Amino acid sequence: MRVIKFGGSSLANAERILASAQIVATASRTAPVTVVLSAMAGVTDTLISLAEHALARNTAWHDISDMLEARHRAIYTALADTPTETFVRQWDALLSDAEHLSALPQNTEPTTKAAAVARFSGWGERLIIDPFVWALTHLGTPTRGLLTAPVLLASVDDSLPIPSILATRAYLAPRLAPMVARGCVPVIPGYIAGDATGALTTLGRNGSDYSAAVIAAALGADSLVIYSDVSGIYTSDPNIVPEATLIHRLTYAEAAAIASRGAKVLHHSATEPLVRGRIPLYLRSSHLPDMPGTDIIPEPCGIRPSRWVIAAHPATNNTESDITITFLPSWSPNSVSPSPDLTSLLVRFPHAAICEQPSSDAIFPTIHFRVPAHQAAETQRAAHRTLTAFDCMAHEIMTPHQS
Ligand code: ASP
Ligand code: MG
Repeated sequence: MRVIKFGGSSLANAERILASAQIVATASRTAPVTVVLSAMAGVTDTLISLAEHALARNTAWHDISDMLEARHRAIYTALADTPTETFVRQWDALLSDAEHLSALPQNTEPTTKAAAVARFSGWGERLIIDPFVWALTHLGTPTRGLLTAPVLLASVDDSLPIPSILATRAYLAPRLAPMVARGCVPVIPGYIAGDATGALTTLGRNGSDYSAAVIAAALGADSLVIYSDVSGIYTSDPNIVPEATLIHRLTYAEAAAIASRGAKVLHHSATEPLVRGRIPLYLRSSHLPDMPGTDIIPEPCGIRPSRWVIAAHPATNNTESDITITFLPSWSPNSVSPSPDLTSLLVRFPHAAICEQPSSDAIFPTIHFRVPAHQAAETQRAAHRTLTAFDCMAHEIMTPHQS
């Protein structure tokens, strides 16, 4: 079984949905496939804004819902002419959820309100299932959609949702097995989850990669492929640093370290559920599905040069940016790569307002600092130049010229 997950940009409109469905149609010719979907790009933000307006009894929520309905109807128009009965039923249920939010007493506990908003924000993943099923059917691939939360949590602590692979397996296996046995591709929602009391919740923002990994582990998949609008993890954001290069192979630990330090392409917990079953994770672009991407594997395999990875993300105050530089040692079968002399590197970042001294025994030494948000892009380009020069110098020291 291969689990294939698509992010919102790969589902942003009818054309992207068809292109993504084509990837699944092709893959399902050679092996069984289960599909996990995120909401269409931007839809989760819109749902949260709708829910907040409804809670505040601000009638603007009706305009937001009209806009959202029009966006989903446009998909059906482009794909199939008329929205299906499933969509009409789902849309009625969404509206009644929104009415319910607007009727909540104003003095409702903030935590209850937050849980209600989170629950409502999961509608995007449920609404996209039906158009995707339509697209796959149109391409001649037998398929069935699942509209309920596939991932079950081990606890009800919303602040840190902990999925249970066993409970998820117990829920999914009997539902999916008959579909797969008939040669059908199950299409299931990411992001949403059921808590230990059975109530609907989510895995948190950007949680659909994590969903896909839990589902892959629960189904004992032999691989997980995540498609987005980029081929994988780069040494820095290629939109900001044009010289950034794609990293073709990473270990689970390296990918988790980079993701938790600000790389946006992958959820920071997405490799965790894969470790036990050693399920490889392939990151690919849905625009260029046949091009190489980043393969994330259990441990180093073969030879790979060391890498510096630069990531930036907005600081909580929003006026500054956190820049993180992570060192990944080289892979080579018989030798241990020397750790770089980070102290001599640190002095090259004088503009850093905060500089966290990397600890020399960290597995992936990190330099972290904060700059004003408007300097973030230029700082990343400067860091890239500095690191390239530093690597050249280190290389010369290690391989002195013969005289
Ligand atoms: N749609 C959800 C979000 O925007 C989950 C995801 O995209 O991963 O947060
Ligand atoms: Mg995502």
